Amino acid sequence: MRDVILIRPPCEAFSLLIGVTEGCSWTQQTGTGCRFCGIYAGVQDFRVRPWSRIKQDLDAGFRAHGPDVRTVFLAGGNALHAPTDLICKVIEYIKKLFPKVERISCYAKNHDILQKSSQELGRIKEVGLNIVYMGLESGSGDVLRFMEKGTTPKGMVRASRKIKDHGIQLSVYVILGLGGNIFPDHAPETAKVLSDMNPDYIRFRSINFIPGSRLHEDWKAGRFEALSPLEIIEEELEIIKQLDSCVTSKILNDHVSNYTRVEGNLPEDKEYIISTLKSLASDPNLRRMKHVNRTSM
Ligand code: SF4
Repeated sequence: MRDVILIRPPCEAFSLLIGVTEGCSWTQQTGTGCRFCGIYAGVQDFRVRPWSRIKQDLDAGFRAHGPDVRTVFLAGGNALHAPTDLICKVIEYIKKLFPKVERISCYAKNHDILQKSSQELGRIKEVGLNIVYMGLESGSGDVLRFMEKGTTPKGMVRASRKIKDHGIQLSVYVILGLGGNIFPDHAPETAKVLSDMNPDYIRFRSINFIPGSRLHEDWKAGRFEALSPLEIIEEELEIIKQLDSCVTSKILNDHVSNYTRVEGNLPEDKEYIISTLKSLASDPNLRRMKHVNRTSM
């Protein structure tokens, strides 16, 4: 087993990364984790890192960067799974070392959010957690079941409301192509759930088959087909078009797997995003492109 795998959102590339947990609790619980993921299964066990190790890393960060650090990412597959007392202690220490810090963030699985009481989330917000990155992946119950996310669209919406009700910003990921050509409701159901959630950020990623994951085996064996780049763009277009007019999220395509970088704020940029995606969908170069699987991101 490896010691630490540090995965962070691209927007946290310049943040101080502090491991609070290692591995993924869902992978530990199920033995396999989500069908499309496979990052941690058999590679790293889940554990909450002890305060002494976290403090050592924070002190090392202070020695390396001084007191002016502005953004800190609490790393680990699901840092919000850690006990609330520990999370608060870590955030309080971050604020003490780095008084100018502007953003403290972490990944959270919807289970972790639902398992925290309202009082706990209130404390975490109060000490200074600003934003949570949560993988919705799909709003389709069939896709979530097939991908073994261990939750339902309703569970996703409940978790998102709980985060927002406590004044913590919410960024959700959607994986374009996750329904393949087996689950045609991936796009319309995702639009519905996103409309119910109205998260602060909607971040699109495009499907990639990660070696070691069960979806990679499905793809290799021809049981699950990759959508073409054109179909990926059409799927994003369908989702954006079907979002409710009251959605006020920021749309981002800020991942190396995306075929576009288009971004904008809803509702005012909706037409701009739609016209950009339409024009991309009619580009002969994109129409000729085939799915190329990325094994490193
Ligand atoms: S996608 Fe997230 S919850 Fe699912 S196995 Fe990977 S790290 Fe765990």
